Amino acid sequence: MNSLHLKSFIRCKRKAWLDFKGKKSCEVWSPHKAIDKINQFQIFSQLCNGEIYTGLKGCENGYQGVIGLKVKGSFFQNINTEIRPQLLVKSKGISKWGPYKYLPAVYKLGRKTTKEHLFDIAFSSILLGSFQESKIEKGLVISSFGNKVNVEEIYLNKKLRKKVLNVLLNLNECLEGSIPEITQDRKKCTICSWQKLCDKEAKENGFLTDIDGIGSKTASLLKTNGISDIQTLACYSEKELGEKLSKFNNQKYEKASIFVKQAQAYISGKPYCISNKNATNDLLEKTSSGFYIFDIESNPDDRHDFLYGFLKINNLFTKKEDLVYEPILNLKNNKVESYRQIIKILFSHKGWPVLHYGETEKIAIINIAKKLNFSFEEIDLLTSRFIDLHTLIRKSWILPLKNYGLKTVSNWLGFEWLQKNVSGSKALYWWIQYQITKNEIFLKKIIQYNKDDCLATLQIAEYLIKNQLKKN
Ligand code: SF4
Repeated sequence: MNSLHLKSFIRCKRKAWLDFKGKKSCEVWSPHKAIDKINQFQIFSQLCNGEIYTGLKGCENGYQGVIGLKVKGSFFQNINTEIRPQLLVKSKGISKWGPYKYLPAVYKLGRKTTKEHLFDIAFSSILLGSFQESKIEKGLVISSFGNKVNVEEIYLNKKLRKKVLNVLLNLNECLEGSIPEITQDRKKCTICSWQKLCDKEAKENGFLTDIDGIGSKTASLLKTNGISDIQTLACYSEKELGEKLSKFNNQKYEKASIFVKQAQAYISGKPYCISNKNATNDLLEKTSSGFYIFDIESNPDDRHDFLYGFLKINNLFTKKEDLVYEPILNLKNNKVESYRQIIKILFSHKGWPVLHYGETEKIAIINIAKKLNFSFEEIDLLTSRFIDLHTLIRKSWILPLKNYGLKTVSNWLGFEWLQKNVSGSKALYWWIQYQITKNEIFLKKIIQYNKDDCLATLQIAEYLIKNQLKKN
């Protein structure tokens, strides 16, 4: 086992096991991992003033930063382990290589230093200490805020070393045993490379966490009440379930009804229409003389929206290939020029509503309008044109799906993205690639992706409108 298994184990036991023993063909490439690696390298380079070398030679030659070193060792006599420190940083001291030594460093994405960082450093320091013949008293957690590198020192006390040894023993036991259960906290799965495999198993076994709105806590509450899978939930009386869901206070009966109906839809594969005539009638009316679809691609870590895409729909009968799609690139953050272009488009049809999926787009427009010094009244008027289809579809339909994300809903409606295996994180990966290489091919891919996102949103709008027409 190695430090990567330890890192996975802290997140999800099953992931560590799959990383170690799982069929590699079932693993899917994760853009998150790739983005993390690129960010990591950029920040490490900045920290070491570009003086980074790979492997043992880097240590022997005393480079400021060393990546890619692997050190083998054993614990408790018979447990073979390997550390792969993300970065070694040269520091004062004496080691077998000369009048210097190395400290292990890890990269941190968010603001919080977690167990994952602490254990990684502690594990690395134990094996690295004996390898370089110099004790390590501290490790470093490296992060970056607004282009500034931040270094946090972590002192390695006895307690932390003891804790990591215990975790390593548990990890060893886990890797020798059979495959662990799927994690209860399925939020962790969204960025995991084994997600497809686990999703399939969860579906086959009717896992309660496959039901939208049921997280790990609600699932265990339901289990203690004898509801252990989706099948049982689908047959349960809504009223009786409501009585058991007191944690939702005065929403308990409403929640119970949604959970049961969601479970029924999931099993039958049939959508259920919640009577919400007003909302969809409103959509029908507002879009009758034309509308825009609006979608943004952004880098949340830099708070940078790098592409604004508009799809212009004069009427729903226009062929898809005749629709006008207008991408506005915002290559440098805060470019007033791109803001003006956006406003120009929005004001070219002042009465048209702007359909979008999720809240990001509306928030972005409010910020843009503020930067352009719009008055409160003008901002209100502008944002009142925005219609969030994600909220609307959730209010009016219970769909036979695990979640109501744009990809899941539009895929269910038969929409296909032109580029395969794409996602918001893949677009972000392309953006980072573009920033490094300046190769326009990445921008083309992002634009195609955004255009498809707009078309997918359109497909959902059509579904809502057509079903409303049928009922009227
Ligand atoms: S998909 Fe979820 S349950 Fe499966 S290994 Fe990854 S985090 Fe664990």
